[in-house]
Amino acid sequence: MVVDAAALAERSRELEGRPPEEILAFALAEYAPRVAISTAFGVEGCALVDMAVRLDAGVKVFTVDTGYLFAETYELVRRLEQRYGITVERFSGSVSREQQEGTLGERLWERDAERCCALRKVEPTVRAVRGLDAWIAGLRRDQGPSRAGIGILERHDHDDGTPLVKVNPLACWTRADTWRYVVANGVPYSPLLDQGYKSIGCWPCTRPVADGEDERAGRWAGTANAGGECGIHTLSARK
Ligand code: SF4
Repeated sequence: MVVDAAALAERSRELEGRPPEEILAFALAEYAPRVAISTAFGVEGCALVDMAVRLDAGVKVFTVDTGYLFAETYELVRRLEQRYGITVERFSGSVSREQQEGTLGERLWERDAERCCALRKVEPTVRAVRGLDAWIAGLRRDQGPSRAGIGILERHDHDDGTPLVKVNPLACWTRADTWRYVVANGVPYSPLLDQGYKSIGCWPCTRPVADGEDERAGRWAGTANAGGECGIHTLSARK
């Protein structure tokens, strides 16, 4: 199992430009059974699930349910589960949405989005990846500046210092590549993507984007973290 940072970097270079299915096949074989896909059900995650199920009908898929997801996202999860015969594992914050609103007040995202993301997204993600050797996600380099430098394989660490390999099979793909795959294969996707949304997160912090805008510009728009990250994909990355 490749976890050593130097060996990973070399393998990552070898996989540059290779089809996502090949990268997925490598990850599922190399890190089975302690490997899973995480998705928030943007178009990338839907494509990844489709590809992965073809390789391994029992592939593990998980999502983080912040309690503030769009109704369309919950419905899409149901459609994907039905279509692919999978059960998406849901992880929620150990502090419930109701507890958070009771102690920290409603609409925390307006006052302290970092705290809200830490409670609703990052904490459950840390729990979700515990016990995994590899974590597959649908990040692409062309999604914006915060993702331009991602590797195909990255070395991260768990809280206890044990290795966690992050796998980004779509890193080299463009948005157009992803849509071509989804349309060609009839993959279910969120109706929000037909309404101007290009990246989908929590409803309070996501808006549609205009033509020409960065595709993550609708995330935390109007805040200091506009177009940025919630902390999930940067947690425990080795520098
Ligand atoms: S994206 Fe917004 S609502 Fe969702 S966890 Fe982060 S701050 Fe809270």
